[in-house]
Amino acid sequence: MPKELPIVLNPHPILRKKSQEISEEIFVQAEFRQLLLDMAETMIKKDGAGLAAPQVGQNIRAIVVQKGNKTLFMINPRLTKKSWAREIEDEGCLSVLNDKGEIIYGPVARHKKISCAYLDEKGKVKKISAEKILARVIQHEIDHLDGILFIDKLVEKK
Ligand SMILES: [Zn+2]
Repeated sequence: MPKELPIVLNPHPILRKKSQEISEEIFVQAEFRQLLLDMAETMIKKDGAGLAAPQVGQNIRAIVVQKGNKTLFMINPRLTKKSWAREIEDEGCLSVLNDKGEIIYGPVARHKKISCAYLDEKGKVKKISAEKILARVIQHEIDHLDGILFIDKLVEKK
């Protein structure tokens, strides 16, 4: 059974570490498959649009993203295309709370359209093109894998 995991909160140092690439042999490990399912469960329970492994205490390059009512498991995700055009929208993060324990929001500029190469939960090579909110979530989650939080990127709202 998938279970909800505790979320690592800013300013925990795990959130600032660069996460490691996941190697092929890890895909067959029951522990890794369980982690992915638990991450999806945690994202859904917390009503998040995405979740990165460092947010549950694992510095490995795995993210889960909500696409409509489907959950995408993205391992070793890498942006292969980024539009010049950027868009500024408010973002929040399950790991960034105010002192009352509430999620805070702030404007971040992201590429409007992206393409992303990744491995799915079975280790199959995949590619996705995304725009708008999905593109934003993928960029936000990949930043987590590089130790970057959205509060590092706040811009003036136009
Ligand atoms: Zn986040």
